[in-house]
Amino acid sequence: MQKIIEEAEANLLHTYNRFQVVFDHGCGVNLYDVEGKEYLDFVSGIGVFALGYGNEEYNDAVKAQVDKILHTSNYYYNVPAIEAAKAVKKASGMDRVFFTNSGAESVEGALKAARKYAYLKDGRTDHEIIALNHSFHGRTFGALSVTGTPKYREAFEPMIGNIKFAEMNNFDSILENVTDKTCAIIMETVQGEGGILPATEEFLKKVRALCDEKDILLILDEVQCGMGRTGYLYAWQKFGVKPDIMTTAKALGCGVPVGAFLMTEKVAANSLKAGDHGTTYGGNPLAGAAICKVFEIFEKDNILGNVREVSAYLEGELDKIAAKYDCIKLRRGAGLMQGLVFDREVNTIINKALSKGVVLINAGTEIIRFLPPLVITKSDVDKMIKVLDESIAEVVNA
Ligand SMILES: *Cc1c(COP(=O)(O)O)cnc(C)c1O
Repeated sequence: MQKIIEEAEANLLHTYNRFQVVFDHGCGVNLYDVEGKEYLDFVSGIGVFALGYGNEEYNDAVKAQVDKILHTSNYYYNVPAIEAAKAVKKASGMDRVFFTNSGAESVEGALKAARKYAYLKDGRTDHEIIALNHSFHGRTFGALSVTGTPKYREAFEPMIGNIKFAEMNNFDSILENVTDKTCAIIMETVQGEGGILPATEEFLKKVRALCDEKDILLILDEVQCGMGRTGYLYAWQKFGVKPDIMTTAKALGCGVPVGAFLMTEKVAANSLKAGDHGTTYGGNPLAGAAICKVFEIFEKDNILGNVREVSAYLEGELDKIAAKYDCIKLRRGAGLMQGLVFDREVNTIINKALSKGVVLINAGTEIIRFLPPLVITKSDVDKMIKVLDESIAEVVNA
């Protein structure tokens, strides 16, 4: 394994400080490294492998599509993309879909749709967008411009213009930033990368009402918190608040790289038109086949039911751990998207857990993030908690 890691470091651009492991294959909720060691996965490739590894039905559907046709072009119709669009519309209640290849691209499209909508209303080209501190929307320039962590942006300035930052769950801070040029407010329904922080119902409802009053578009980024992760197909469905534009990716394809942004008919009819936006790969037949199968399995296997049941148990067990150690400030999150907030850096704990066969990840430097495949069981939670407990104890007692 060491030799592979050295080769990786000699050849790949070093944009990640990687954990010292090379995964080779997976089965269910377990990963195996190239030396055959087994790991219990509580990251699922950052919320991608919702169905776990090696789901036969999913794999067969992807393989069958590979043998049929992988790619045509968006200048032609293809049936898997149409079926996938119907599935994601049904799941979300949104009206129109544009398929992309990633989360960042979905955010780019959402921002362009919002600007075009405002432009068609008043012909101005100086519209503003409000984003939130500690948000994460991706690494491309548009997505980075609305990402609320200054250190991710600094070296790449100037960003796209006219972005203002407000505070999550602080409606006054939104009001302070609204002007007659505001065209959109973008936020994650549950902040992921920035620290597993859910929007409150009160905050979301006030933002929605403000957007309605001023014809500002509400963009909810569901790339990480969507696709059943919180016990709802999309996290906003819990609150009865609907976005004007929504982004999704990560678990949408459960491994095949896909994303989408969706909008209501009102936005669709008054924003992007033929020639305004495009993609070579987005919505290709392979992506379409994967998306269709994902939604089918979600329904057939009652994935949401499992998330609700196991997440209630996970919350309880994490609360016990949080109560046991002074170095843990609190637990927060929604469904199978949970975080433990520490008073110190958590990397040592995560590395200890990894050596004991449990894969965890941080969100920021002081938060351990739990994003297991949505098919985990209570006994998987028990196994993880045992290793987590031991790992924290070793660090605290060191
Ligand atoms: C991961 C993530 C993105 C970016 O997705 P990529 O596929 O890495 O481009 C955007 N928004 C949120 C909320 C994310 O968690």
